[in-house]
Amino acid sequence: MASLSLEETVEGGKSENEDNSAKLEKPTAELPLADLIPSSSSFDPVQAIIEGFKDFKLNEFDPNRPCYDELAKGQEPKFLVFACSDSRVSPSTILNFKPGEAFTVRNIANMVPVFDQLKHSGTGAAIEYAISVLEIPNILVIGHSRCGGIERLMSYPEDRSAPFDFIDDWVKIGLPAKLKVKAIWGNCSFDEQLKQCEKESVKLSLTNLLTYPYVRKAIAKNALKLMGGYYDFVDGKFEVVLFETHFSPPIPAI
Ligand SMILES: [Zn+2]
Repeated sequence: MASLSLEETVEGGKSENEDNSAKLEKPTAELPLADLIPSSSSFDPVQAIIEGFKDFKLNEFDPNRPCYDELAKGQEPKFLVFACSDSRVSPSTILNFKPGEAFTVRNIANMVPVFDQLKHSGTGAAIEYAISVLEIPNILVIGHSRCGGIERLMSYPEDRSAPFDFIDDWVKIGLPAKLKVKAIWGNCSFDEQLKQCEKESVKLSLTNLLTYPYVRKAIAKNALKLMGGYYDFVDGKFEVVLFETHFSPPIPAI
């Protein structure tokens, strides 16, 4: 039997009647188990996994065996990447990262929380390992268009919807970005506010990275660069923002 190694990432799902905005559905009362099981579907998830790995093994792993043999000895990634869990924004796909190039953290709305050993330790552990152990020289935080997490941050609690168990507390990390957007772009359409918040939350995450002692130390030694990115999958565009002592204007990749 083939053994499969899967990334521990959470991919955002999309219901059939949903548009591209990847809205987070409000919690509802518990559904009977029968309602959670698709009644008729030809999709076989196990077969999809097996076929996916077969394709990777035949077309990527086997033809590039020397590269994978080298990677088996150790990793030396050039980037620590923060990206949203959204299934449309995989950094390996949109930035063409190859295995071994990007040490990746994915979460709802690509947030980096402020250093806090009592909360969000999963994110802290990834940053500590990436910077203290692997000594990765670049951090890239990627925001994206139509982010469901940012929409929730901008909507709740003003919309008086029911709270989520975890999501609201998590996206609240971006509250300073929300307040900035409301203060500057409060008169704009809600869609425009969402777009501004998607970008401002990236800048906030870069600022929050400075609260981690290993990050500050590496920057002081000139061994680490912080960068932000914004991927617009509606227009197929990507912008890069460099962070030094201030934010540089965006550099359009296309
Ligand atoms: Zn998102």
